[in-house]
Amino acid sequence: MKGQLLNDPVFGMAAGQFDRVADFLNLDQSVRERCKWPKRILTFSLPVHMDDGRTEVFFGYRVQHHLSRGPVKGGLRFHPKVNVGEVAALAMWMNWKCSLMGLPYGGGKGGITCDPNKLSMTEQERLTRRFAQEITPFIGPEIDVMAPDVGTNAQHMAWILDTYSTHTGRFVPEIVTGKPIELQGSEGRIQATGHGVSFLATRALNKLGLPVQGATVIVQGYGNVGSYAVETMSAYGMKVQGISDITGAIWNENGLDAEKLRAHVAQTGGVAGFESAESIDPDEMLLRECDVLVPAALERVITESNAPNLRCKILAEAANGPTTQPADAIIEERGDIFLIPDILCNAGGVTVSYFEWVQNLQRFHWTKTEVLTKLETKLEKAFENLLGFCDRHKCGTRLGALATGIKNVARVKKTRGLFP
Ligand code: NAD
Repeated sequence: MKGQLLNDPVFGMAAGQFDRVADFLNLDQSVRERCKWPKRILTFSLPVHMDDGRTEVFFGYRVQHHLSRGPVKGGLRFHPKVNVGEVAALAMWMNWKCSLMGLPYGGGKGGITCDPNKLSMTEQERLTRRFAQEITPFIGPEIDVMAPDVGTNAQHMAWILDTYSTHTGRFVPEIVTGKPIELQGSEGRIQATGHGVSFLATRALNKLGLPVQGATVIVQGYGNVGSYAVETMSAYGMKVQGISDITGAIWNENGLDAEKLRAHVAQTGGVAGFESAESIDPDEMLLRECDVLVPAALERVITESNAPNLRCKILAEAANGPTTQPADAIIEERGDIFLIPDILCNAGGVTVSYFEWVQNLQRFHWTKTEVLTKLETKLEKAFENLLGFCDRHKCGTRLGALATGIKNVARVKKTRGLFP
């Protein structure tokens, strides 16, 4: 059966969203098929010397969804549950996201099935370098450009840059984004995704006629995206009352202190045990009343069982694919939650990755203010365009965002034609 390899609930969810939008757009069959299926699905077995002298073989994946509008762009994930179907779904969402934001990229995603919490830094370095070495023939600044995602960070990008540069015999900073500043990473990249989520949350509050000052917030996930969303929203005067991560969930009715929390997590590895907060149940936290609920961890956490009981006014999808399709239908039916869909909500990351790539290609360096101002301009335009589209077509923001992204890709494929 076609697509058997990708038999996975997360891919099923992305493909189901695509089918719904393709029907809405009335896409003709030839373009529909070409837009849906990934161009390349790469699988690597990665033998690595472990610290205890054993050799362990890991599996790594890279899915390049399509290359019709430019190189593919997307993160590299380290997580025990990574599989090829999930990676393909994430690549597909990246695709529509880049198109929605008007970036000259197709979507890509990579992942290695591993638990980074159980690997030493030297093991992570050997694993990352092995993956970079295996994938070198299939990537390049004009073909496929990686960035951090769940379980990876700027250091992993530095190892990929170094491995790729060593193989090609020259310094190639434009092979990855989200790398350290001293290796020509961009100012503002580390906070870009969380900054974008926060900026869009304020725009949604404005749209609903609610004040930004004092708006209450709950955030699931305190990694790169969640932690910078917390910091930015706190700086805007919003009140972040609840935060969870894999170590537990914490609550302070008067708002959690963002600066102190970062120091606590740096010291202890998680939000649990933060002194000026009470510990609460992480699942119950999602159901508490708030202005803005921010899922910033993994996929499929807003489901048909919790969607009817959500008490937020705005659902800002910082994670990729946090809401299942049945939950989506419930939220649409309820009509009392303003949804900022993932492909717009977390697009700050890829947008500043694009800025980083452009700066690298030009050997130029912009200031943080320049970067974040350009980011806000792009997000503002995409947000306004989306609201206009939804108004004209009388549809929800999920459908509107996906339709805009998919429509642009379909148009490019049709214009380029089919080779041979
Ligand atoms: P990360 O690895 O830095 O952080 C993930 C966080 O989620 C950690 O705090 C972890 O403890 C927490 N977490 C995991 N399982 C959880 C659970 N069941 N309940 C509560 N918390 C849980 O990852 P990240 O880079 O912040 O990415 C988070 C999400 O944002 C992912 O969906 C990713 O694809 C998406 N995203 C990331 C970027 C980026 O620039 N890093 C850009 C766009 C989208």
